[in-house]
Amino acid sequence: MDEPDALLLDLDGTLIDWVEALEAGVAAGAARIAEAHGLDAAEITAATLAFEAEVYELHATGWLLGGVGTGELYGALWRRALEVYGLDEPAAGELAEAQWAAELAAFRAYDDVAGLIERAAGRGIRLALVTNGPSVVQRAKLEATGLADAFDAVVISAEAGVAKPEPRIFRTALDALGVAPGRAWHVGDSLEYDVAGAQAAGVRGVWLNRHGWEHGRHQPEPGLEIRSFDELLALCDSGNSAETAP
Ligand SMILES: [Mg+2]
Repeated sequence: MDEPDALLLDLDGTLIDWVEALEAGVAAGAARIAEAHGLDAAEITAATLAFEAEVYELHATGWLLGGVGTGELYGALWRRALEVYGLDEPAAGELAEAQWAAELAAFRAYDDVAGLIERAAGRGIRLALVTNGPSVVQRAKLEATGLADAFDAVVISAEAGVAKPEPRIFRTALDALGVAPGRAWHVGDSLEYDVAGAQAAGVRGVWLNRHGWEHGRHQPEPGLEIRSFDELLALCDSGNSAETAP
């Protein structure tokens, strides 16, 4: 397989496990409510996670393009949870802070990420992060996981003023690297945001399917599907050895 000159990388679900962190964060807030009112923390956690996506959708534009941070988004989540339980304390702001603190402690890079970064550097493959979210939040995740200095370019939607799947955010990253779209791959866990967005920008869209999700018939078709970065590196290796074989 012809190796790319640059890899563009998604952050959440690709380099770091955000679901595990979200669950830890919501559990931290739920524990405070449970303690204050003698309720079951696990039940509050499950109930709150069940409407998390719905609350997120209401604030998604501000979250992706600027103006909404953890205080607003998580505060809205906890106001909803308190309302469900007919409570008015602890204050939603306090719960939002507890959630974010617990998330920061829980963020971790997947095991195959360090190897990818090392091998990319060794082969002269340039790396850019292309991520959707608020500047402060995404940069805090990079710091918390030791990835802050891993990239040649970092493109965050709230800073760039454009979010995935818009092709323009991928072009911003390519411009920063000085690499043509045809010489870059973008790797991400979302077929809609990562694969389709990258392909609209002329970049090969690689679907990182860590959990073995089924590919729906009407979903975007990836240029390549991998289960891990180790698999990606092995594919590049086999391509190189094939090319150098007599
Ligand atoms: Mg993602």
